[in-house]
Amino acid sequence: MSEILVVGSLAYDSIQTPSGKVDRALGGSANYFSLASSLFAPVRVVGVVGEDYQSQDIELLKSRKVDTSGMSVVKGKTFHWEGAYEGDMNEAITKKTELNVFEHFDPTLPEHYRDSKFVFLANISPDLQLKVLNQCHNPLFIGMDTMNFWITSKLADLQQVLKKVDVVLINEGEAMMLTGAKNAIEAAKKVIALGPKALVIKRGEYGFVMYTQDQGFFILPAFPIDKVIDPTGAGDTFAGGFFGHLASLGRKPLVGDLKEACIRGSILASFTIQDFGVKGLAKVDMGALEMRTIQYHKVISI
Ligand code: AMP
Repeated sequence: MSEILVVGSLAYDSIQTPSGKVDRALGGSANYFSLASSLFAPVRVVGVVGEDYQSQDIELLKSRKVDTSGMSVVKGKTFHWEGAYEGDMNEAITKKTELNVFEHFDPTLPEHYRDSKFVFLANISPDLQLKVLNQCHNPLFIGMDTMNFWITSKLADLQQVLKKVDVVLINEGEAMMLTGAKNAIEAAKKVIALGPKALVIKRGEYGFVMYTQDQGFFILPAFPIDKVIDPTGAGDTFAGGFFGHLASLGRKPLVGDLKEACIRGSILASFTIQDFGVKGLAKVDMGALEMRTIQYHKVISI
């Protein structure tokens, strides 16, 4: 088993969906990722929060044995994101982004984080993603996420990061924006041409498309959920389950491992969307995940 390092946002989210709304619920990519991946392997988190961050929210990660020594609490308010979902809820509509203490985030890894073998660069500015990579000693496997904002505003830095990572996990809209492709299949091949060895495109209720240079496509649907309450964090949960599975194997991942990791991530994400914020995910244990995995295999086999 290997350690996972994650850098990303720690946030309070205000979310409106057809099922209702929540104000300042715990969120942020690093929280979703850590809660998911810590089911499988030890996790170290790097991020910044303000003085308003509740101690119970740090305790939640600690209760999952997540190492929070790389989290800094600084003067000011925690990053706040306000979003809404409509219709099929496959895309978030951002209403407001208050960067607050996140604006001056300058990730510095504690010494003992630097030898982490599995590194996940969640959705932060690509120049900060590079900064984190430069502090890592000898990672075995690196993954990244990004978003439309960085694709338009920091493309040159983003292209640098893409050259250094093993896998990119993004959603369909981001993949098309990054490559100019008209669909996920075309986008997959074009992203691989930018440097990474593997690409996972997350497609909400339609599941995922993975593409590797060695073995081409691997495509599956999501676990069927009829009542989606809040899709926020599904992508980060997917990435957490994906990385958690790979770190639990503790070796340089093979393509077969990546396929299994996609299934783990996808099933875990189905728990996240069944409640607001991190509530659905925080309740999941290995038993619940295994049970749903058995049901999922029934859904996809003939
Ligand atoms: P996703 O898995 O894509 O649904 O990610 C949801 C999380 O991303 C939310 O909890 C937000 O707090 C966080 N988020 C939204 N916008 C940003 C941003 N610009 N930078 C970092 N994190 C963000």
